[in-house]
Amino acid sequence: MIVLARKKFYITTPIYYVNDVPHIGHAYTTIAADVIARWHRLKGEDVFFLTGTDEHGEKIQQAAEKAGKEPKKFCDEIAKKFKDAWKILNISYNHFIRTTDKYHVKAVINALQTLYKNGYIYKGKYQGLYCVGCEKYLTESELIDGKCPLHLKEPQFLSEDSYFFTLSKFHTVLLNKIEKDEIVIKPEARKNEIISFLQNNKLEDISISRSKVKWGIKLPWDESHTCYVWIDAFLNYVTGIGWPNKKFERYWPADLHLIGKDILRVHATIWPAELLAVGLKVPKQIFAHGYFTIKGQKMSKSLGNVVDPVELSKKYSVDAVRYFLIREFPFGEDGDFSEEALINRINGELVADLGNLIYRVLTLAERYKGRIKGKPELDKILDISLIDKHMENLELQDALGAIWEFVRNTNKYINEKQVWKLEGEELSNALYNLLEACRIISILISPFLPETSEKINKQLGIKAGKLKDCKFRKFTGRIKKGEYLFKKVVKM
Ligand SMILES: [Zn+2]
Repeated sequence: MIVLARKKFYITTPIYYVNDVPHIGHAYTTIAADVIARWHRLKGEDVFFLTGTDEHGEKIQQAAEKAGKEPKKFCDEIAKKFKDAWKILNISYNHFIRTTDKYHVKAVINALQTLYKNGYIYKGKYQGLYCVGCEKYLTESELIDGKCPLHLKEPQFLSEDSYFFTLSKFHTVLLNKIEKDEIVIKPEARKNEIISFLQNNKLEDISISRSKVKWGIKLPWDESHTCYVWIDAFLNYVTGIGWPNKKFERYWPADLHLIGKDILRVHATIWPAELLAVGLKVPKQIFAHGYFTIKGQKMSKSLGNVVDPVELSKKYSVDAVRYFLIREFPFGEDGDFSEEALINRINGELVADLGNLIYRVLTLAERYKGRIKGKPELDKILDISLIDKHMENLELQDALGAIWEFVRNTNKYINEKQVWKLEGEELSNALYNLLEACRIISILISPFLPETSEKINKQLGIKAGKLKDCKFRKFTGRIKKGEYLFKKVVKM
């Protein structure tokens, strides 16, 4: 007998910097990762979904000081806020890593030692313009009007002893791997940006240590320096699955690093170079999603338009927020967020399409006292392979769109057949089709709307299914109609 090993799927979000509490941007990346992870579980794959928090570095040290707290205590509090938010948003991560976790720190020291031993680190002097906000030195060409374009502050001129990582040695190999899709970068436009960057610029060695920053991992061969936060943070992707223990090989290399587009360049250069220098494989794919503005404006604390995903969920329901974020914007592109658009999606799609369908079908089915059986008809308008293809291509919006097409067509079936007028065998056949369609819809939406899927299953009297169960078969549920799934939002 041949036993096929279950396919593995390893997906990560960036680890979030704890100088800020979770906002809608963090939630967007994490919800998208959750949807993808749940989809792969639905396919029966062995999924590992990692998220967490990035807790070292000067910026955290300063934020803790400002809050009058010990850095670790400060990190504990913010990390908890992230965990709490992910619980509310129904994020099904397998592990939450914190870069202050002992096993991570130990593994980073191990990695640094290896880099040093392998000759990828040397001591030099670093001089340059340093932005505290970015926690990195900026080149003149990156500045706008002499200021960091992200933080709108003039960087400080610094000169210091520093250890360097020989990133320049990896220029050609990285360009090759990206061009040949040995590291797949998506969307295509982002891949081209990276390639053109590497063709037009020489990668320079990077400073990886700071003697002024106390809040960080000490270099094992020179404890007067702490490790630059990126070098430490990137390693979470391997330490989070157990590296350097052998067991990490089950999941490495990562199938998908999901990130925001602002951190693509470092993920496509420093991170794979670091892996190669330590002697590890590079990740299979990096996907950079876009950002959103809030009603056309950049989200910022100073504008006071930061959207709190937890508050939003309390107001409209978690599934409404999850649905909206995936449905509203093409994954990978920028989008604009407004509550009005969210309300339109709730009323127009969740209430009018899905909520209505489930309510109508269950009302009709509950009234019918006979045995429900029939021949599949609605299967002809359902294309599971298309939905799966969209998911594999990370066209999340299109996948949800295709599922919704089926929801709408199932509603249409009720109207066209005028099911409420049918009797006997014809009615039984229509109900069979409708109930099976609802069962399959419940499976298909479960990665996007996990709570709603559970509610539908309860009303249909069925257990949660897998993707392979998405075909019409005998209906075996026990119907128990419940409340309407979604509430219509009345606009003020
Ligand atoms: Zn900056």
